[in-house]
Amino acid sequence: MSRHTPLYQPPLDALRAPLIGRLLKRRHGRLLLQIPLFLAAVLLTYDGFTGEQIASRNLATVGAWVHYRGLVILALLLAGNLFCMGCPFTLPRTLAKRLAGSGKRFPRLLRNKWLAIGGLFLIFWLYEVTDMWASPLLTAWLIVAYFAASFVLELIFTESPFCKYICPLGAFNFAYSTLSPLQIGVRNAKTCQTCVGKECINGSYSAQPVILPAQISERPPIQHDRRGVLGCGTLLYAPQIKSNMDCTFCLDCVRACPHDNVILGVRSPARELRQPHTLPKRWDVNFLLVALAFMGIVNAFGMVPPVYALLRDLALALGTNAEWLLLLIVFFVGSLALPALLSIGAAWLANLLAGKQQRPHLLRHTFAAFAPAFVPIGAGIWAAHYGFHFIIGALTIIPVLHNFLLDHGIGLFGTQVNWQLGGVANAEQFAIVQVILLIGGYFASMMLARRIAVREYGVARSQLAFLPYALLFLALLLAAFFIFSQPMEMRGTAELDGLFH
Ligand code: SF4
Ligand code: SF4
Repeated sequence: MSRHTPLYQPPLDALRAPLIGRLLKRRHGRLLLQIPLFLAAVLLTYDGFTGEQIASRNLATVGAWVHYRGLVILALLLAGNLFCMGCPFTLPRTLAKRLAGSGKRFPRLLRNKWLAIGGLFLIFWLYEVTDMWASPLLTAWLIVAYFAASFVLELIFTESPFCKYICPLGAFNFAYSTLSPLQIGVRNAKTCQTCVGKECINGSYSAQPVILPAQISERPPIQHDRRGVLGCGTLLYAPQIKSNMDCTFCLDCVRACPHDNVILGVRSPARELRQPHTLPKRWDVNFLLVALAFMGIVNAFGMVPPVYALLRDLALALGTNAEWLLLLIVFFVGSLALPALLSIGAAWLANLLAGKQQRPHLLRHTFAAFAPAFVPIGAGIWAAHYGFHFIIGALTIIPVLHNFLLDHGIGLFGTQVNWQLGGVANAEQFAIVQVILLIGGYFASMMLARRIAVREYGVARSQLAFLPYALLFLALLLAAFFIFSQPMEMRGTAELDGLFH
């Protein structure tokens, strides 16, 4: 190494990008994304309540179930948690935070991901049991419920509990942003060591943050005045951030830091999944990563004919035709029970085969060590599913919006609605992309698990420890191939068959 080579090269800061970086760093920079998404949410809700109750002709259902879902997974993989950054539900939340000042902390017992995992399960089950994909009205109510929940929780509690502990969309985004190429970090760790106010987490008192020691409270939480810049809502401390988990990309830390020391660093995707100790070794956080991969399978399974055969068999066996109960059983087993059983079983077998059942190879340690390996295969499954709906329905938003405008007396684009507009590719063409996504996710998971096995058990024992996970990933891949090779259920209207689900 040359004498002049710096010991530490700070990563590339995406916020140094011309124009967009400067705009995002501004005090109200986040509104650039939030206002369009807020207006979109209002439009979707309005059409959901008042518009034609046909899924393929209503902005609520097309916007939420075709475009939002497709774009969210694309954004996560290409950039990061952009949808939390632009989340419109946090607008009333910010208002509530200003109104409430410093509220109570969220109950200790609930400061984990179990509520979010339960929320994900509930939303996928409700989506299926109520045919939410086909109901603009229910979709609109779901949006309203989101706004209300985020506002009320922020009014009562500090620490953004809605984003951090409850929001199912946020939990999904947190989990898959671990694969993204951007992450919050600091330019110079030494600056943080001497920083007095730790404004990135505490918030600053003024719109132009300046350190005024006399203003800094000795005991957090600090009261913010109206001109202040909020600190990290989810209580992440910038110099210690190792993962995108719990980061909403709000950039409040960037704006609050008086030393311009917070960056949005460019990193290799999945870096945090490869490195040990980036995620806490907690059951809840790691089960979220595992369960989401299985939920991807179950969610897609609900749209193919074999689900009906299974429901029929279950109905006969249990002597009931209650669809809500039958679906509850299928979703519970597939989304929660199976992932728990199989992933804990794999961890136990890995320890047994590698002959290490004593510390540090406790079951929880092994479970947590391998859980990040479920992220790539899970992302591949979700991208294959949501990408499909997006690709075959991307252009439908044009006639639906056109129709909405005509219904409200706005004939800017003529009076002929072109209902033929549908996808940018057909199902057969996208099947090739689905195969690439599934196999790509599978191989990335296998490589990750192999690497973890070597790290945890050493080269000699790693093959045996890796085996249960290799079999589990193969089973997930085969299940995904089976589901995606099935004919898609005919849903929606004639011109958009199969668009929804
Ligand atoms: S990131 Fe900024 S505000 Fe936070 S500790 Fe470092 S210098 Fe202080
Ligand atoms: S303030 Fe917290 S949640 Fe927002 S970008 Fe910074 S670290 Fe992430």
